[in-house]
Amino acid sequence: MGSCNGSVGFKIQFTKLFINGQFVDSVSGKTFETRDPRNGEVIASVAEGDKADVDLAVKAARNAFDNGAWPRMSGYERGRILMKFADLIEEHAEELATLDTIDGGKLFSLCKAMDIPHCVHLLRYYAGAADKIHGETLKLSGEFQGYTLKEPIGVIGHIIPWNFPTAMFFLKVSPALAAGCTMIVKPAEQTPLSALYYAHLAKLAGIPHGVLNVVTGFGHTAGSAICSHMDVDKVSFTGSTEVGKKVMEAAAKSNLKHVSLELGGKSPLIIFDDADLDKAVNLAHNAVFFNKGEICAAGSRVFVQEGIFDAFVEKSVEMAKTRVIGDPFDPEVQQGPQIDKKQFDKVLKYIEYGKNEGATLLTGGKSYGDKGYFIEPTIFTDVNEHMKIAKDEIFGPVLCLMKFKTIEEAIEKANATRYGLAAGIITNDLNIANRVSRSVRAGTIWINCFFIFDTSCPFGGFKMSGFGKDQGLDAMEKYLNVKSVITPIYSSPW
Ligand code: NAD
Repeated sequence: MGSCNGSVGFKIQFTKLFINGQFVDSVSGKTFETRDPRNGEVIASVAEGDKADVDLAVKAARNAFDNGAWPRMSGYERGRILMKFADLIEEHAEELATLDTIDGGKLFSLCKAMDIPHCVHLLRYYAGAADKIHGETLKLSGEFQGYTLKEPIGVIGHIIPWNFPTAMFFLKVSPALAAGCTMIVKPAEQTPLSALYYAHLAKLAGIPHGVLNVVTGFGHTAGSAICSHMDVDKVSFTGSTEVGKKVMEAAAKSNLKHVSLELGGKSPLIIFDDADLDKAVNLAHNAVFFNKGEICAAGSRVFVQEGIFDAFVEKSVEMAKTRVIGDPFDPEVQQGPQIDKKQFDKVLKYIEYGKNEGATLLTGGKSYGDKGYFIEPTIFTDVNEHMKIAKDEIFGPVLCLMKFKTIEEAIEKANATRYGLAAGIITNDLNIANRVSRSVRAGTIWINCFFIFDTSCPFGGFKMSGFGKDQGLDAMEKYLNVKSVITPIYSSPW
């Protein structure tokens, strides 16, 4: 294992809740510990917000929405402030990438080269869109005309997971801020640190008090209080399908707030006989092992056509064995630790299920090193669609390789899942690519590529992977209400 430690001497500056423009202790005075997944050691004690703190944050956001400048200023002005926010993030990229690496076990080099630039890009994209929000003019039947206004929905509750703390934060807040909404963000309890730093930078950028509040804490307390709150107008949730159901239930039982859900996945990657073998192996490897398999769109079910199956298996195993596991600050390392003990245990449990249900373990299958939550890249073959490893989202470095004969069989197997987040196709045959991309029920289809995320390209699920898009202009629509205004064309009829 690498011996780098980019966090030595690094000071955590922000550990309190951010409410109405101030860092404050929780009402209860309680804190919780956030831990470094490289070794399980405590990094910091963070304020533990619950219902009382959510009430205060919602009150601040409500006041900022009902009486404050943010929804009332021009889109151009909001855009200028968001541009400043983006500039400040760029200036602090090193510290921010360090926070996500020590809190989330993510590769430092990738945080700096991908996650931070992506969030800066998101802010600038929506900053540019903030003054281009407009409705339509309508010629109505009879003697009436109408137009539509697009108005910010109001107070938003953003609840996000731990696997991409920075990207998740900005996928949610950037379009909502541009739309003129005010908000409470609840980061995952495993990775609260960068969200608090972003709150500090938002304040420096000039985002008014109460517009962006961050309440750190647990899902069943702080998260649940947001979903049930009568004064929250919408919840934008990213996380597991199981919790997504609870979010909808709480919204229905309280004030019928708007809900959008970005949930789990079990994405298929379908590789046809005509594919370039080495490129396909490399793509499949990264499609599942990237970010230690902790990615909602992971291509964790790989279907390979029978003509190249054996060669593909051999090369995939060779490649997995060379993957470098270790300290995510070491630039040579390709895979850091799983997020926490719970997730580490879950992945190892699924590996046992795979073995017990009759799949063949080709490589990996064990933890790695003597401390922290590292797991070897693991490959199974002889997997069928009824096994737990083929059905459930494992959210770890576990690849299931399956063989198919015909295009029809590939489509049927790819669709045999309750999820529908993403899918990949590798072929040089345009007819196959077109047919499969139209037949697989998933929100994103990658042809001869995987994990290409672009700020302008909507991302979100079908089926039990949720509804509502992040990214692109579609995401801004989630934070806008359409109002119809109707008036007689000539004089009033009454
Ligand atoms: P999770 O559902 O356990 O938690 C997500 C967030 O919800 C956390 O902030 C948590 O505190 C909160 N939460 C938990 N219980 C809650 C409750 N009862 N009410 C309100 N909030 C509650 O998910 P996780 O383990 O943090 O993240 C992994 C999951 O997220 C995976 O299923 C993954 O596929 C999914 N995910 C989806 C996308 C996407 O874009 N579709 C992206 C990233 C992650």
